[in-house]
Amino acid sequence: MSILDKINQLKKERNAVILAHYYVRDEVQEIADYVGDSFYLSKIATQIQAETIVFCGVSFMGESAKILNPEKTVIMPDMEADCPMAHMADIDKINAAREKYEDLAVVCYINSTALLKTYSDVCVTSSNALKIVKALPNQHIYFIPDENLGRYVASKVPDKHFIFNDGYCHVHKSITAKNIQIVKDIHPKAEILVHPECTMDVIAMADYVGSTSGIIHYVTESRAKEFIVCTEMGVRYELQLKKPKKLFLDAGQCYCSGMKLVTLEKVAEALEQMKNVVELEEEVRIQARKPLKRMLELG
Ligand code: SF4
Repeated sequence: MSILDKINQLKKERNAVILAHYYVRDEVQEIADYVGDSFYLSKIATQIQAETIVFCGVSFMGESAKILNPEKTVIMPDMEADCPMAHMADIDKINAAREKYEDLAVVCYINSTALLKTYSDVCVTSSNALKIVKALPNQHIYFIPDENLGRYVASKVPDKHFIFNDGYCHVHKSITAKNIQIVKDIHPKAEILVHPECTMDVIAMADYVGSTSGIIHYVTESRAKEFIVCTEMGVRYELQLKKPKKLFLDAGQCYCSGMKLVTLEKVAEALEQMKNVVELEEEVRIQARKPLKRMLELG
């Protein structure tokens, strides 16, 4: 039996659906029932009827699915698949900021651990961060954990005061303005598409700044034929599917090793053995659910 047949059979036996982020391997995206960015997947996770969710992504995504679906079994193909940035915020600093500013909203990028979410007022994704921060009544915003996304949002909401955290995504940070310029010099008509986890000098070069879904949507609407895609390379799979005649260029090796740990073999093994089940302490789950639910309401 092929690995694909095996996964399909196990899905039926376990009453399971497979969710995959755009950054996982092409073949994993291919077998998934739903593929998307963090915002789409967190919304879908609240609507799923199946008993089991296989989350092909990194650990904070599985945690978010479990937080929103406590009655379901959420399994991860590889428990080692993690996002370093998800851990990059200091609880003592959050508490200190809360003491300093009475009117403080702790805005937490969804790329964060469940524990960090428990210290937050609202979660955001790169798709909805701008909309949600604008909608908040608070004047003081402590944006965790990603400094780059925080600075991008702050640049669009000048009437609010932001406190930045020093977290970052090493994958997006590796994209440099210099490398983009090298590609642009060779392909002067190429449009530059940038994820807001990139640094501000890279964002300043962009024809379009947005989430992974936003970038995909932009490409489908744009009349341009060439694009320099400044985000994780996995998005190429969906871009090529949607626009096979367009040319997608890199400005470096933008590769998330955590996402790439997920393989078809691991999906099959996790489903077969029902292993790598996401477990959260009930107190953490309840507290972390509040900012996620608020995001879904505001976003
Ligand atoms: S691409 Fe960056 S932010 Fe996304 S999971 Fe990988 S390390 Fe984390």
